[in-house]
Amino acid sequence: MLDPLRAHARSVAGRSHVPYSGEPAGAAVLLADGRWAAAPRIENASFPLTIPALQGALALAALADVPAVAFATTRSLSPADLAAIAQALGGDWPADAPDLAVATGAVLPEVGDAVSWSPEAPPTDAAGGLEAALAAAQRAVVPASDFRVGAVVEDAAGRTVVGANVEVAGDWTRGLCAERTALVAARAAGLGPIVRLSVACLRVPGGTPCGGCRQVIAELAPDAEVVIWRGDEPAEVTTPEALLPGAFRGEALNQARR
Ligand code: ZN
Repeated sequence: MLDPLRAHARSVAGRSHVPYSGEPAGAAVLLADGRWAAAPRIENASFPLTIPALQGALALAALADVPAVAFATTRSLSPADLAAIAQALGGDWPADAPDLAVATGAVLPEVGDAVSWSPEAPPTDAAGGLEAALAAAQRAVVPASDFRVGAVVEDAAGRTVVGANVEVAGDWTRGLCAERTALVAARAAGLGPIVRLSVACLRVPGGTPCGGCRQVIAELAPDAEVVIWRGDEPAEVTTPEALLPGAFRGEALNQARR
């Protein structure tokens, strides 16, 4: 009955950003109400070098408003993967098959619709983008820091996806910033070239994207306008090139491969 979830994992793998390895991957999570979310593998030249599909799906599961009950992946789940799911979400997550993990005791619903990561009122301008980013920050999962950040990604067609930062209690390395969560969701949803990325850091209006996010933005949204909330001050409007001059791009490897 989880074959449709497997199909979503395979489908989202096609939206991977894998210029370094050339090996796409996908992961899909099923929520207790039947909705699902999926994440592709996103490689980048900052550390950590990749947002594995499972990590993306875990972040989206944490941002969802109902518990996750199953994960499907296009790669076999390792014991470390199963431990990571249990650490992030709690409970026991035994492998149900090499590519499936199901929460112990979970009642599996039919696989239904995808989770929507679009804001209720899609922004029409930069101010609207920041408003949506501020609202998205309220969804942050930040047990360690209480440092809430929201991000909003828009493409030329007006398609919009929100993200917020997700921390995993006890393991700082497994968290994902709001910008990267939003870019994972945007990639999964098949947004076109990103035209605007808005970021709002609730506690520190002067906060800017971290080094890792700057690299990922440079690779996935190189032509975006980046709008950063500044509290009572006017918003900062900048570019990926200004945030990370001369950024390394994975395309260089594709050229070398030819
Ligand atoms: Zn970051």
